[in-house]
Amino acid sequence: VKIAVLREQAEGERRVSATPETVKKFIGLGAELAVEAGAGATASIADQAYADAGATVADRASVLADADIILGVQGPEPASIASAKSGAWLAAGLNPFGERARVDAYAAAGIEALAMEFMPRITRAQSMDILSSQSNLSGYKAVLDAAGEYGRAFPMMMTAAGTVSAARVFIMGVGVAGLQAIATARRLGAQVSATDVRSATKEQILSLGAKPIFVESVKGIEGEGSGGYATEMSEEYQKAQAELVSSHIAKQDIVITTALIPGRPAPRLISDAQIASMRSGSVIVDLAVESGGNVEGAVAGEVIERHGVKIVGHRNVPSRLAADTSALFARNLFNFLSAFWDKDKGAPVLDAEIGDAIRLTQGGKVVNPRLLT
Ligand code: NAD
Repeated sequence: VKIAVLREQAEGERRVSATPETVKKFIGLGAELAVEAGAGATASIADQAYADAGATVADRASVLADADIILGVQGPEPASIASAKSGAWLAAGLNPFGERARVDAYAAAGIEALAMEFMPRITRAQSMDILSSQSNLSGYKAVLDAAGEYGRAFPMMMTAAGTVSAARVFIMGVGVAGLQAIATARRLGAQVSATDVRSATKEQILSLGAKPIFVESVKGIEGEGSGGYATEMSEEYQKAQAELVSSHIAKQDIVITTALIPGRPAPRLISDAQIASMRSGSVIVDLAVESGGNVEGAVAGEVIERHGVKIVGHRNVPSRLAADTSALFARNLFNFLSAFWDKDKGAPVLDAEIGDAIRLTQGGKVVNPRLLT
C-alpha cells in the first residue's frame, strides 16, 4: 500500500501525522510512504529526515496520487484531496460533530474517512487513542501557560527577604488532561485541589497528592459509565456544583478547566460573578474554550482580562507542543494501522469493534451511527 502524509493546512496547526520513526516502521511492514514537502517543518522535522527514513518527499498532488491511506492530524479540506482515488482511507482527527459538512464531502468523494477521536475506550485501543495522547500534553501545557501569565510564583519560597506563599491551583475536570495538570502543578510546588462529576476520579486526585472538592449532596456519576465519559448533569447537580465551586474558587489563584461532554457543548462551570470573586492577578485557563467554553467570557484564541483576572483561551493547545504531540499522534496512527496489518494482503484490514466505531463514511455514504441519529 501507499501511505500519504499531508502537510496540515488548518490555521495554527503545527503538528504532523507521521515522524521519521513511524515512516520507518510503516516501511518495515512493506508500505510505501510519501510525505508532502514541508509537512514536518513546524514540528521541527526536516524533509530530509523523512527522506532518510525512506519516504518520498513530494508535492501534494504526487503524494496523493494512488495513495491507499491518507494520514492527517486534522481533516483536510475536501477540495484539497479531490485527486485522491475512490476508496482511499483518510485517518485523522476529523472532528466529526464540528465538521459535519466535511464528512458529507468525504462521502461524496468516495473517501473512507476514519475519525481517530471515535476510537473506542477499550484496553487494546489505548495505544491508538489520540484524545488521550494529545490531552495529556495539553494538561501539562495549560499549567505552564497559567504560570506564564501569573505574576507570582507557584512554589512556596523562603528567601532572605521574606516568604512567598505557594499558589493555589484548582483543576476542574479530571480526565486525561486534568490528571496531567494536577501532576504538573504539584511538581511546580502549588497547592492543588480538583473536582469532577465522576466519583471514580476522587481516588485518582488523592493519589496525586491533591485535594478532592466534590458535590456530596446530589449524586454524581458513579463508576466509569459509558466508555468513561461524562454526560450532562441534572439541574440540581449543576446548582449544587455552582455553590460549592463559588466558595472554593474565591480562594484560588489559578483555575484550569478541562470539562468536556462528547458531542455536546462544554458545561459552563465558572460564571462572571465567580471570576469577580477571585483575587486580582489570578489566572483561569479554559481548555474547553473551543467546545463552547467552561468559563463565561472566555474567548477562543485570546488571553483576556475580566475583573483583574486573566482568562486564557488558547486554541489547539496540543499544537503548542508540536514536536512531542506529533510524535505521540504519529505513534497512535502507527499502532492503529499496524495492529490490523494483514501480512498476506500487505494492507490493514479493520475488525468490526474498532472499524465500525471510527468509520464515518464508506461507499459514498455516511455510515457512522453517532452521525446518523
Ligand atoms: P473528557 O476530555 O471527555 O472530559 C474531561 C473531564 O471533564 C472528564 O473527567 C469529565 O468527567 C469531566 N467533566 C464533564 N463534565 C463536568 C462537569 N460538569 N464538572 C466537572 N467535570 C466535568 O475526558 P477524558 O480526558 O477523555 O477522560 C474520560 C475518562 O476516560 C477517564 O476516566 C479516562 O481515564 C478514560 N479513558 C480511558 C481510555 C481507555 O481505556 N482506552 C482512554 C482514555 C481515557
